[in-house]
Amino acid sequence: MVKIMNNSEPIYNYGRCHVCGEMMEEKQIKQDFRIKGKLVVIEDVPAGVCPQCGEKVVKADVGRQIAALLENPDRLRKARTMKVPVIRFAKEVA
Ligand SMILES: [Zn+2]
Repeated sequence: MVKIMNNSEPIYNYGRCHVCGEMMEEKQIKQDFRIKGKLVVIEDVPAGVCPQCGEKVVKADVGRQIAALLENPDRLRKARTMKVPVIRFAKEVA
């Protein structure tokens, strides 16, 4: 079964990058957020990504959805966790 796209909403056009002017491409990205000092990562976020400079934009409704996910304590409680390396800033000695 192929899902038929609603014609009223074609593939979203993210337009051009506001930083470098390259055409944005739709990608599923991982985006990190900081909620009360805790790092939270949301996977598979549909976003426009600039192939040139890496600038990212999300649609307004995606942004609202992200906010709703982050405010849902159930989601956070049931979420997988991953280890993140934390490095103290120091002068690298070669
Ligand atoms: Zn760009």
